[in-house]
Parts: sequence; structure tokens; C-alpha cells
Amino acid sequence: MEKQPDLHEGDRTGDWTRLLKTKYKKQLGELSREYPHKRSLSIDYRDVERFGKPGIAMADELLENPGKVLEDVWDAIKNGQLVRTKDGKEPREINIRFTNLPRKTLIRNIRSDDINRYISVEGILRKTTEVRPRVVEAVFRCPAGHFTVKQQKYGKFIEPDGCATDGCTFKKLELLPKRSKFVDSQKLRIQESPEGLRGGEQPQTLDIDVTDDLSGIVSPGDRIIINGILRSMQRVVKGEKSTVFDIFLECNSIEVAEKEFEEVEIDEKAEDEINRLSKDPMIYRMITHSVAPTIYGSEDVKQAIALQLFGGIAKEMPDGSRLRGDIHVLLIGDPGIAKSQLLRYVVKLSPRAIYTSGQSSTAAGLTATAVKDEFGEGRWTLEAGALVLADMGVAAVDEMDKMEKGDRSALHEAMEQQSISVAKAGITATLKSRCALLGAANPKYGRFDMFGDLSDQINMPPSLLSRFDLIFIMTDQPEQKRDMAIAEHILKAHSTGELIAQHKKTPIPGVTDEYILQQLKPVMPDIEPGLFRKYVAYSKRSCFPLLSPEARDALVAYYMKLRGIAEPNKPVPVTARQLEALVRLAEASARIRLSSTIETSDAERVIHIVDACLRQIAYD
Ligand code: ADP
Ligand code: MG
Repeated sequence: MEKQPDLHEGDRTGDWTRLLKTKYKKQLGELSREYPHKRSLSIDYRDVERFGKPGIAMADELLENPGKVLEDVWDAIKNGQLVRTKDGKEPREINIRFTNLPRKTLIRNIRSDDINRYISVEGILRKTTEVRPRVVEAVFRCPAGHFTVKQQKYGKFIEPDGCATDGCTFKKLELLPKRSKFVDSQKLRIQESPEGLRGGEQPQTLDIDVTDDLSGIVSPGDRIIINGILRSMQRVVKGEKSTVFDIFLECNSIEVAEKEFEEVEIDEKAEDEINRLSKDPMIYRMITHSVAPTIYGSEDVKQAIALQLFGGIAKEMPDGSRLRGDIHVLLIGDPGIAKSQLLRYVVKLSPRAIYTSGQSSTAAGLTATAVKDEFGEGRWTLEAGALVLADMGVAAVDEMDKMEKGDRSALHEAMEQQSISVAKAGITATLKSRCALLGAANPKYGRFDMFGDLSDQINMPPSLLSRFDLIFIMTDQPEQKRDMAIAEHILKAHSTGELIAQHKKTPIPGVTDEYILQQLKPVMPDIEPGLFRKYVAYSKRSCFPLLSPEARDALVAYYMKLRGIAEPNKPVPVTARQLEALVRLAEASARIRLSSTIETSDAERVIHIVDACLRQIAYD
């Protein structure tokens, strides 16, 4: 058998000294000038790897034995006198941080093997506590005046058994906070990003312990990469120590990942396919037919959802304000009309989406909240709700009529300014919520009464309704032809499913793959969800269409007409918001074709949809 190379051979401190002297002169100089204001050295993992043969070993060592490596680097700094503070002294302590690790560990794949190793995880920040000092070196004094120092780790406060001075027998010691050493600390909870999850999996979380100058620099909703050492801590159940351990990450460095849809990888083959599809004259039909094909009908709603997924373009105004590009859609309808099904399907099609109910199970609800709970160990904790977690994506919110009062008022800001402000106790924060909202709600009295006044049956204030770009009233009226078609459509999906299941168990003669495909056709999407997601991501990333003069004229003419015929007693007022909505929808329409201009055909398409929606709720 080949001998395994010894990871620890060679003079590591010397190796680090050479690496720091060649690559990190500038940073070390800054540290010398600005210490203690600046007190962290940030080392790029790839620099270490590129540092020839010792570099490979050093990089591996970091992953396997990070504690030793951090000591080696610190020794290199001290021995080589690489940092000299202004008064010529040595710095007391410098944080050595590593960034840019090539391999990320998925939160759900973390195992006991990873304990005490250096790992890199990626996700979205769900909770953050207040920043508070934590004691790291506790100094005690016995009645005779001797000092005893006890280093503190995580969790439980460790008290000395007695005075450490030889011959002294005092057991009861007094803690001296003024002499003890503290460090800023904060606890975070990171959760897997929605785009990494398939088919409604519940995201998993990991708790993070942050100290010193990394405290207080990130907020809930941020997409971050956290590098650090995985630690374990024994669980205590009802005062008894358990054999099960909890894990947390001792944070070494934080990187902010502010990349929109970069996570969706698109290879050349997919790119060719997308470009081909975008030129197909039937593309709008194909796209619509790919949104929840097992749901019969509701073509207009499906088309609206498709436009929402592609989205309009956010604009920075010259005065610094921002105009959203996200399209908000609301479905108000009778029960059992497949609203929930549509919402759930959107999660499959969007590169980044979250499905949640208005009566949310988490305290954070739709927007955000500040609570004092167990997680914060007595500190205030700020937790992000669905609209923050769906930042840069789609938030599908079911049962919106049942949402909390607090959420309802915060929703106004979230939908238009695309941010959520929290001011409670010691916490003031503004979180980003740049997402498109797809809401579903039931009418006030459970079902629509088509002879009653519509505005009385919608359980939402006009101020909220006017923030939706499209509102669909979906009524379930018996209509024989349509009901029959739905029944057949539903049974088709069921029976084909049964057939496939049976055929898999024991092959049925005459049933070929081709036959099955033929049977499935009406309930199969034209563009399968995987490619659909890529299509959306590709278009959002690369397509920024501009209005042609003809399209602009068409939109303005329609808007003027609307203002003329709008009725004041209707649930939705016609305001300048509708014009903005028309532009956003037209941008989305052009994006489906990957077109750089918004043509008259786009304007006509969206006028048709908007008119169908407004006919019911803004004028007759
Ligand atoms: P809602 O949320 O509007 O109350 P659901 O989404 O829960 O309704 O739908 C109820 C059930 O009826 C679902 O299983 C759905 O698939 C089915 N269903 C309703 N309308 C249709 C339709 N047009 N085509 C196919 N299935 C439908
Ligand atoms: Mg429902």
C-alpha cells in the first residue's frame, strides 16, 4: 500500500510566513497602521492552494485540523513580526479568517465526520440575535486576594473548583467582570436557500456562533456563505446529559452572496434549447400550458403567473428611489377551484420561490418579527418571514385573507417599497423583500354571491388591493360542458397514474412507453419544470427590453381610456399604479421572447389580460 503523505511534515510556520510575506504585504501593512480598529486578516483559500506544493498540504490541513492551522498562522505573524502596531508593540490578538473555499457543504449533508473540521455552508439568514458581550476569559478572586483565570467556551459558564494558587484552599471565588475579557457575540440561524430544494422539501437550518468584528454585520434575509469550524455541544434533556449532541458552526468568516439567479446553472445545451423555444411562434401557448398542466382551464391565470415569473425590470430613479419590477398577482376565488394547486406549482417553476400560508406557522409570519425567545438565550431575536426569505424570487402566499393584522400593515411597505422595517425593543432594522407576491384568498363569506355587491365580498382594503398588478376573481359556477371537461381531465391524470403504477409492478401487454406518453400528453407540460426554471433564470439574467414608441402609445391610450370609465364605488381604484403595472407586464411579455424591444404585440397581450381582470373589479 502506498504511504499516505504526512499532512504535518515540514515547517508550517515557515511556510505561512513565506506565503504571508509574498501575498499579504498590503493587508499586513493596513493591520499595522489601523490596529485595533482593523484586527482581522482575511486569507483567500485559493491563494493557499496556489502556493505550490506546501500550499496543497496547508489547504488540506486547514480543512482537517483548523485549530492547528490558526495557531500556525498566528505563530508566523508573531515570529516574523509581520504586524507592528503604531506604538511599536505586538498586537494582542488578530483574527485569522479564511474565505473563498471551493467546496460547499449542504446543510442537510452535515454529518458527525464534519465535527471539528473547517467547512463552508451557503444559505439564507433566517434569524439574528442582538449583539451582546460574551465572556471568554473569566477572572476570579478568592478571599485571600489570589486571582484565578478560567477560559470560557460556548454554552455553560465554567467556574473553577477552587483557588488555583498553591496551598490556598478557598473554594468560593468572586467573579471580577472588570478584569475579565469579553468579546462581542451574536447568534445566527441560516437555512438552505429555496433554489436548492426540490419538490417542497422543508429547508434545514444550522446555528452559527459569531464573534468580534463579524458581529452585527448581516441581517435576516441576506444570502451568505459562512465558513467556520463545526462544533458539537452535548444536549441536556430535563437536566440529564444526553448521548446526543447538537451541532453549531463556530464562524470564521462571512461572505455575502448577492448574486441573482446565479445558482441556476445553465449549460450550452439548455441555452440552445431556450433560444430555440424563444423563437417558436407558439411560445406563449407552450409557456401557459406548462404552468400546472394537470389543472384544467384558467388559461388567463396561468398566463399571468407566467408573466409574473419572468417579471418586469426594476428601475432606479434619478432621485435615488426605486421602482419595482416585480409583478404582484392575487387570486380571489371560491373554494376548490385549484388556487392552492396553482400556488404550489409555481414553486416548481421559479428559480427561487417560497410557498406559505397566511396563517403562518412561524412567529415571523409573512414579514418579520422581533421576539425574545430561547434561541436568543434571553437576547432579542429578529426573524425573517416569508417575504424576506423570498427576496429576489416569488412568495406564494395562500389563505391571504387569514393573515395576521400586523402582517397586513407591513405588507403595504413590503409590496411597494420592497422592504420591511422593524422597530421593537433594541432592534431597528430594514430588511429587503424584493419579491413578487402571488396571493390566494377566499371571498369574505366563503363563496362569491354573483348577485351581491362584489366590493363587499372581498376581505381586503383598497389600499392593499391597489398594490396588486393583477387581481383575478375566480368563481365556481356549475356549467355542464366545462364541468365535464374538468372531470375528464382530472380522471385522465388519475387513471394514467394508476396505469403506470400497475405497469411498473407487472408489465401489461400492449402498454409501451410510447402508449403511456400518448395518454399523458394532455396533462404533461410542453416545457418541463427543470428547463422552465432555467428559461426564467436565463431571461431575467440577460434580457432587459425597452418600450418601442408604438407599444408606449398603445399602453398610454388604454390607460387614458381606463381613467375615463373607472367607477369610484368599485373595490379597486384606477390610479397611476395601473400604468406602471402595464409597463411591467409588457416587459415580462417581451422577456418570454428574449426580445430587446417591447412590441405592439406585447402591449396588446397585456392590455387584454389587464382588461379581463379590471372588467370585474374596476368598471362594468
Ligand atoms: P382551493 O385552494 O382553490 O380551495 P385546491 O387547490 O385545494 O382549491 O383544489 C382542490 C382540488 O380540486 C385539487 O385536488 C385540484 O387538483 C382539484 N381541481 C380543482 N379545479 C380543478 C381543475 N380545473 N382542473 C383539475 N383539477 C382541479
Ligand atoms: Mg386552498
